[in-house]
Amino acid sequence: MVPSVLFKAACPDCHGRFELAASSFRLAIGGTSKTTFYSFTCPDCGGLIRKPAGERIVELLTRGGVSTMRLHFSSSPGD
Ligand SMILES: [Zn+2]
Repeated sequence: MVPSVLFKAACPDCHGRFELAASSFRLAIGGTSKTTFYSFTCPDCGGLIRKPAGERIVELLTRGGVSTMRLHFSSSPGD
């Protein structure tokens, strides 16, 4: 049995506040903090929200079971 983790989120478009399950989020981890962000769909207005994710948020979401996508950059030839 998987415990359902709920994350508090807010929509900058309609200013709605709600709690969403981990499965509602997508986390994209880039090479820098500027390219690391999480996204979710607002249940109120249906808008796709994308917000920058700091280290704490990344850890929180990852632990909560949010699916993570690692972005690759062609600017790192040694990779
Ligand atoms: Zn909204």
